[in-house]
Amino acid sequence: MDIRVGNGFDVHAFGPGDHVVLCGVKIPHSQGLLGHSDADVAMHAVTDALYGALASGDIGQHFPPSDPQWKGAASEIFLRHAVRMSESQGFRISNLDCTLICEFPKIGPHAAAMRTEMARLMDLDVTRVSVKATTSERLGFTGRGEGIACIATVCLVTA
Ligand code: MG
Repeated sequence: MDIRVGNGFDVHAFGPGDHVVLCGVKIPHSQGLLGHSDADVAMHAVTDALYGALASGDIGQHFPPSDPQWKGAASEIFLRHAVRMSESQGFRISNLDCTLICEFPKIGPHAAAMRTEMARLMDLDVTRVSVKATTSERLGFTGRGEGIACIATVCLVTA
């Protein structure tokens, strides 16, 4: 069996708005996230982890931010592309784990919905999808509430 592991990391800054979208779930918040697409920092990190496992570049290469067609795009377009690439190269996703790093909004109350939505988008059993969160103890840009970071790991196995 061929096993591939990939990691992904992403950051988006807070800006004006009344909600954020994380793992495809809309979460009410006093600010939004800035970004060319819908700024779903978690979905971007997972997508990059998939590209990483395939050694196939990164999200910015496949969907250049300079290309106006991706302005405001739903990040599931990017995720689905990476999932399809995995499948077309003979892999299935064994599991994924992503960790959001922020002080606010609190992720815990939304984690179950986020797992369910990611599992749906990736056609996975929800037990293979982990979404968790931590703060950075008020240190650094996440600690100062300037934005949200996310780190993700995926494991691909031969289908
Ligand atoms: Mg991003």
